[in-house]
Amino acid sequence: MGAMLAERISGQGRSVVVLDRRPPAWGATAASTALVMWGADTPLSHLARTLGAAEAARRWRCVFAAVGELDDRIRRLAIDCGWRARPEVYLAGTLLDEAGLQAEAKARQAAGLPSQFLGSKALAERFGLPPRAGLISDLAFEVDPVALTLGLLKCAVGRGAKLIWPADVVAIACNETGVSLALSDGNAILARQAVLATGYEAARAYLPPAFELGSSFAIASAPGLAPLWRENALIWEASDPYLYARTTRDGRVIIGGTDEDFADAERRDALLDAKRQTLTAQSGDLLGREGVVAECTWAATFGSSPDGLPAIGRAPGFDALWLASGFGGNGVSFASMAASLICASLDGVPAPDLDCFAPDRFET
Ligand SMILES: Cc1cc2nc3c(=O)[nH]c(=O)nc-3n(C[C@H](O)[C@H](O)[C@H](O)COP(=O)(O)OP(=O)(O)OC[C@H]3O[C@@H](n4cnc5c(N)ncnc54)[C@H](O)[C@@H]3O)c2cc1C
Repeated sequence: MGAMLAERISGQGRSVVVLDRRPPAWGATAASTALVMWGADTPLSHLARTLGAAEAARRWRCVFAAVGELDDRIRRLAIDCGWRARPEVYLAGTLLDEAGLQAEAKARQAAGLPSQFLGSKALAERFGLPPRAGLISDLAFEVDPVALTLGLLKCAVGRGAKLIWPADVVAIACNETGVSLALSDGNAILARQAVLATGYEAARAYLPPAFELGSSFAIASAPGLAPLWRENALIWEASDPYLYARTTRDGRVIIGGTDEDFADAERRDALLDAKRQTLTAQSGDLLGREGVVAECTWAATFGSSPDGLPAIGRAPGFDALWLASGFGGNGVSFASMAASLICASLDGVPAPDLDCFAPDRFET
């Protein structure tokens, strides 16, 4: 998130300082499995029930545009980050069964989004997966998230942005001239505007309780196992929680999911062995073969929201302080969206779609 913001804001010719208490790309981004998709955790057809079809479609189209924008920028800036276009396969699950997926396909098509329904037999034939109905969507891709972050930061630094770490921000104060960020070493940075792209760590302090923290788990096989299915598609399920799978350039198979609704690191890490076994067993069912044997297993904090969409906008009550929190499974796509919306709003006029993702939108 911070790297995407720094690249885009420096591209506007503004003076940018990136502060991080850790080395670059050591946050949640290092744990990300980086399936870059525009289909969000809460299906469009479900979101339409609460917001109406037009408003739900507007929000999804923002995410779709952000994925296209990121795709375009990676190419234009020639960032070597393992970018590969992949079809996205969204399989029938507990949230959407076959009929639900057909309704979802219609809702997406009516919104101008490129998804097609595929029956179980046709899906099995095309992808070499067990028969299960699904939606196939275009314009998804995979990346190496650490390489992408470092590439974006390099571009920003090349345009004059300053990257300072370790720089632990311990207090923030706003006044009429801007924002003062106090660091743990006693220094302070004064800025006209500041964006908190602090991932899941500073979330509690600024976000309403509707944005929740949990834990997510993933395994990766040894290199050379893929391909196990055709087109190296990005696979996930219309379930909550859902299982997902992708491959890497060196042929690892990554399987993720089995989320828990607590974020305590000690409790989470105590589950690593059990989660490795569960992910191996569930991958066997997902892929219709022997389960994927893990060479690496990891876990990290993860954020979710009631509509599957992020918190992007001014911190409630503060004009010069912005929040950019990628809650929901599409954190990478949401970072691109936050960068577009915040960049377009820095001169004082909010981008028209900013209200869709307002951090206080669930407050009554
Ligand atoms: C296991 C897992 C799998 C995922 N898979 C996907 C996926 O397939 N697709 C997808 O789109 N998204 C995925 N996500 C979500 C996505 O990766 C995250 O939303 C995204 O990487 C978060 O990036 P960020 O920059 O907001 O946070 P981070 O990468 O955590 O960066 C925040 C930074 O802020 C710094 N910071 C925090 N507080 C302070 C402070 N007070 N002072 C100074 N610095 C501070 C931290 O040191 C850190 O470097 C996944 C996440 C996890 C955990």
